This record gives sequence, C-alpha cells and structure tokens, in this order.
Amino acid sequence: MHEFSAACSIVETALKAAESNMATKVSVVNVEVGEFTFLIPEQLKFNFEIASRNSILEGAELHINTIKGRLRCDECAFEGESKVDPNLPNQIAVFAPMKCPRCGSSSTKIIGGKDFIITSIEAVVAESTLD
Ligand SMILES: [Zn+2]
Repeated sequence: MHEFSAACSIVETALKAAESNMATKVSVVNVEVGEFTFLIPEQLKFNFEIASRNSILEGAELHINTIKGRLRCDECAFEGESKVDPNLPNQIAVFAPMKCPRCGSSSTKIIGGKDFIITSIEAVVAESTLD
C-alpha cells in the first residue's frame, strides 16, 4: 500500500526528530506532499494513525500541505507547474507520462513534486530533571 509505506517513513523520521529533541509527546506533524507522489491525503492521515500507534506520535495530527508538481518539457523548454490529468485515476496517473501544459508533448521530465518531506513537528519536550 503506497500510503502506508509513506506513513511509516513519516513516522520513522518524525520519531527520530522527536527523540533527538527529547520530546515526550508529539502533537502535530507538518508535511509537504508533492502532487506527483499521488498520495491521497485522507489515506495518508489514516495510515499515519495506524503507523504511529504505541509511539510518542500516537494521537498526533498530520497536517498535509500539497505542493504542485513541476515539469520540464523537452520539446518546447517549458518549465513550471503542471496538473495531473483529473480524468485519470491515481493508480494509472502514477505510470502515465505527464503532458506539457504548453505544447501537449509527453516528452517531459518531472522536476518537482515527487517527494514528501516533514517541514516541522510540534512536540512536548520533557523538563530536564538533570542538574
Ligand atoms: Zn512543451
């Protein structure tokens, strides 16, 4: 499941960040998700809930900010935002070539929007009991 492996990787990264900051509880995880990842936000949230169980991330909110996909066209040198064809189901769009919004060519390269990154986490940090 696409969303589940993405959710696991978000949980893993957020846990590392939380642990290195001595956090005892994470309340919010902010992520940027590229349009070309074809991750469905609702499914990602759902899987995040499952993947974060029994960790300090349990119950944390996942805030998803969708980033537009970017293309470069080999035909007309267009470079910029592109839309995923809304008529294509996600499962097919993953494999379909992106069309250039200027000339319609399929000789395009994806230059942005294929990743998801954690931009920040909001956590509760334990008060140090060390002297
Ligand atoms: Zn073009």
